[in-house]
Amino acid sequence: MGQAKYVFVTGGVTSSLGKGIISASLGKLLQARGLKVTIQKFDPYINIDPGTLNPYEHGECYVTEDGAETDLDLGHYERFLNIPTSQANNVTTGRIYNNVITQERNGDYLGKTVQVIPHITDEIKRNFFALGENGDYDVIITELGGSVGDIESLPFVEAMRQARWDVGPENIVTIHLTLVPYLKAAGELKTKPTQHSVKKLLESGVQPDILVCRSEHPLGADIRKKLALFCNVPFNSVIQALDAETIYDVPLLMRKEKLDERVMERLKIPLKDEPTLDRWKEFLGRLKNPTKDVTIGLVGKYVELHDAYKSIAEAFIHAGAQNECKVNIQWISSESIDEENVDSKLHTLDGILVAPGFGERGLEGKITAARYARENNIPFFGICLGMQCAVIEFSRNVLGLTDASSAELDPDSKHKVIDLMEDQKNIKQMGGTMRLGSYPCDLKRGSKAYEAYGKQKITERHRHRYEFNDKYLKDMESKGMKAIGINPDSKLVEIVELKSHPWFIGVQFHPELRSTVANPHPLFVGFVKAAIEFNRDRDNN
Ligand code: GLN
Repeated sequence: MGQAKYVFVTGGVTSSLGKGIISASLGKLLQARGLKVTIQKFDPYINIDPGTLNPYEHGECYVTEDGAETDLDLGHYERFLNIPTSQANNVTTGRIYNNVITQERNGDYLGKTVQVIPHITDEIKRNFFALGENGDYDVIITELGGSVGDIESLPFVEAMRQARWDVGPENIVTIHLTLVPYLKAAGELKTKPTQHSVKKLLESGVQPDILVCRSEHPLGADIRKKLALFCNVPFNSVIQALDAETIYDVPLLMRKEKLDERVMERLKIPLKDEPTLDRWKEFLGRLKNPTKDVTIGLVGKYVELHDAYKSIAEAFIHAGAQNECKVNIQWISSESIDEENVDSKLHTLDGILVAPGFGERGLEGKITAARYARENNIPFFGICLGMQCAVIEFSRNVLGLTDASSAELDPDSKHKVIDLMEDQKNIKQMGGTMRLGSYPCDLKRGSKAYEAYGKQKITERHRHRYEFNDKYLKDMESKGMKAIGINPDSKLVEIVELKSHPWFIGVQFHPELRSTVANPHPLFVGFVKAAIEFNRDRDNN
């Protein structure tokens, strides 16, 4: 198409309106019209990336193929568009300043005073446009984190204002996502918060082209007219975004409101055929018409905030739809599990997933859950720390190494079955220093993982410091815990399976980060299938 086109998505009135889902849904619609689309997110906080943020604060940290630790919205982009993102798709204020300050120290500004305008805004714009430079994409959607009016968002909004004139107004469209609240006492939808938030944008010189209005009630023509008049947008560019049954309905709701058409008109992209959404609709059909259901226990330490396990929850939705099965997730705090109560807490489950995590808190509960799954033949899926727990448990209770542990939790343990690798031992800095991103893995034929993937060579994404200690490999294998996935370069153990168990798999990587609507992850699909069988057999007995 030549010149890349840019869509900016800003938010106003409150946070949590779902800019990520709106961006991903628009991306899906444009992609379904044959355009090459990517989505990027600019976050106004000062951390260089979210890798050092507590999951309670910010939800899950999403890791890309190239090993960037990024915002969880990138997970939505990948799940909807089915194309990988990268470091370039997530930029924070911290990264922008870091780049500018590094250049200043290098003397690149030649004696000039370095200022927010133009130096910070230039660096923001360089990043806005970076993905559009090689002709890889027709449309780049940029989600601006935070809300309009926040002090820290100002340089981004200013850069967005300037960007219009760098690429020409016909190549940029601005969407403003707002809230139109319903006042019960007045029995009315209220437009004033949206008017104010648009005024705030106007103060910065940005006139939104399209309003997407989150609302719990349909917007009548009168409300749309009023919003159009006061906010200076065409009537047909007031788009309603009602609460949806699932996030996967949103592309269809946006299609109904013609968001894609409005965007394409503004960007002068010829409107040819209708978008092809058949496969998406098929997925929704399966998702909404399950023929069975299972309950999976998700044992983790951050379960109060479900966003901390966003990609796992979504991977279950994809895998459930694939199996025409509703997957109910029971969120179980690992700290609440002990030897005494484990049976009463877990005996109704059809599958147990022990989640990724860091640090000691709740660890013994995870180990106890892994033991319960092993001894009771309940389908078990251990992810990253969850796999490490399964290995510790097996070492303690089957190999008889009663003090077996991980170097992360007990550096003095005599049997560190999970240990730091040599190249990790001297690392002092926390940010970006784990084993991150995509690594290859070879599967052993005859294993359940091989059966699930249907091939021998795979790659998966990692985010951890500690590894399976292969000093113990022989003993474990002789007792039935098999290393069936090995990194062909480093020989690190990436997957373990129990031989005499219907479905017990621990993976050092994060399969959930690769699950999309178009490609549900094979291990999640296999795990749900095993849970269905377990549930069926139990009912028959
Ligand atoms: N804390 C473990 C490690 O660093 C596991 C990390 C994870 O579960 N993502 O190796």
